[in-house]
Amino acid sequence: MVSAYVALGANLGDAAATVRWAIERLALLPKTTLLACSSLYRSDPVDAVGPDFINAVVALRTALSAIGLLGELQGLEQLAGRERPYHHAPRTLDLDLLLYGNDQIESPGLSVPHPRMLQRAFVLLPLAEIAPHRVVAAQLQAVQSQRINRLERQAHAGMPDAGPRCCMGALS
Ligand code: AMP
Repeated sequence: MVSAYVALGANLGDAAATVRWAIERLALLPKTTLLACSSLYRSDPVDAVGPDFINAVVALRTALSAIGLLGELQGLEQLAGRERPYHHAPRTLDLDLLLYGNDQIESPGLSVPHPRMLQRAFVLLPLAEIAPHRVVAAQLQAVQSQRINRLERQAHAGMPDAGPRCCMGALS
């Protein structure tokens, strides 16, 4: 079993609802347990166009391989109706595999750690919230100019057996 961290982002339709739906689906992946999820955050689009993004990061414990987990993430993106009409298009749901244990992976379809994660406040802040040991202060400082707001935390009754640390940001 390996600890893996996945970043979620959405900026089309009801983005918060899509992110909450995706977290619930991640909890149901085969050979996988959802250990923790961050608050929801609202951020400016980076490398993308359209409305603000809703973001979160989850921690998983999984017996899936990294490539198997990526396949599951891509399946969820498809289920959420993601289309890729052009580069940087707004997205219904974007799921990125940030970390897979301490593995370093460079294959044609998968780079881990995610190559752009250190440039993005919308990844580092939620990751630091649930896994402070995986982010250092200098990394947070490097992205502090990026606009990002943590949304109010609220326990989510529908969460499957994910433990007390798994809470959802509530949009008010
Ligand atoms: P995106 O437009 O961000 O969804 O990028 C998806 C593409 O990035 C797919 O072709 C993936 O195979 C590739 N990719 C490479 N590394 C990763 C990663 N760590 N997490 C998610 N997608 C990745």
